[in-house]
Amino acid sequence: PIYMDYSATTPVDPRVADKMIPYLREQFGNPASRSHMYGWTAEAAVEEARANVAAIVGADPREIIWTSGATESNNLALKGAAQFYKTKGKHIITVKTEHKSVLDTVRELERVGFEATYLEPQDNGLITIEQLEAAIRPDTILVSVMLVNNEIGVIQPIDEIGALCRSKGIIFHCDAAQAVGKVHINLETSKVDLMTFTAHKVYGPKGVGALYVRRKPRVRLEAQMHGGGHERGLRSGTLPTHQIVGMGEAFRIAKEEMDAELVKVKALRDRLAKGLLEIEEVYINGDMDHRVPHNLNVSFNYVEGESLIMAIKDIAVSSGSACTSASLEPSYVLRALGRSDELAHSSIRFTIGRFTTEEDIDFTIELLKSKVGKLRELSPLWDM
Ligand code: PLP
Repeated sequence: PIYMDYSATTPVDPRVADKMIPYLREQFGNPASRSHMYGWTAEAAVEEARANVAAIVGADPREIIWTSGATESNNLALKGAAQFYKTKGKHIITVKTEHKSVLDTVRELERVGFEATYLEPQDNGLITIEQLEAAIRPDTILVSVMLVNNEIGVIQPIDEIGALCRSKGIIFHCDAAQAVGKVHINLETSKVDLMTFTAHKVYGPKGVGALYVRRKPRVRLEAQMHGGGHERGLRSGTLPTHQIVGMGEAFRIAKEEMDAELVKVKALRDRLAKGLLEIEEVYINGDMDHRVPHNLNVSFNYVEGESLIMAIKDIAVSSGSACTSASLEPSYVLRALGRSDELAHSSIRFTIGRFTTEEDIDFTIELLKSKVGKLRELSPLWDM
């Protein structure tokens, strides 16, 4: 099938794989081994990767902590900050459309005594700064808002959010798992205190990520993984050198090629949107202006979601129904935007990227036109 699910994960770029292989073979040393060449070589590779990750977001390499991925980074950021600052207050603010790794972590913090407010986005998927301001309380210690949404691709106004949080002395965490290589991030100007990254959405390997922890002004965290004191004591465990090298190379390539890739991907996405909108009763989910060009999320009215997914097996996409686990719940993100259960169920997330071609797009448009037409002919609700 044609791969149109780049927000689920990306293929590893061959250049990234090539860079990783020596660290699985001859350069197998432990970066924490300080007394011989094997260790020094591994450590140098880890530090080069750290510099590459820092560079794409305008950070100091000392602000980058390696983790196993965005889920772990979100857990470390939220639990770590909440625990460290709990004597200042116990209130946390986040958004209903965050990834489960943020929402479930905040739920867990509620279970152990914190309080949380979940902001409801507008119909376009975005929150406003006024909404956030209204939710802030004297005991608010932490705000978590993602940069790019994984289902609908909308870009939240993190510069304004950061400025507001800074002015109130509140820690601001931002999950940027879906943003790297798609939007410009500059942590010298954006007042983000903690930022989550992962490699496998940026053509790197799965199972490695990072957390940015600001040094000026200094942000403190309680470690969640205790042991040998790696990563400034914030995340113990032997570093997976090959994975880290892969993430570094993936982020280096992303920085170098982002601007050209954005132009190419936008042209493809616009072609897809134009083609699909020729079908009747089709709705785009999420704001089209404040959105990464890689994402098109569309609801096909009068089509049953499960049947649609079965009918388009020649393309690999995500659906708004049964998307998370085995549940038959429609997408909670689309529900939070005010979409009906029917429209949420019949939604398809098309996400495109580095290796998508014009032929892939044209094939997808033709497939959807024919299958949606056929399914509607069978539908008792369709009477046009
Ligand atoms: N946050 C967002 C916005 C995501 O899209 C994902 C990926 O599904 C994650 C977090 C979790 O990332 P990881 O698979 O690296 O744990």
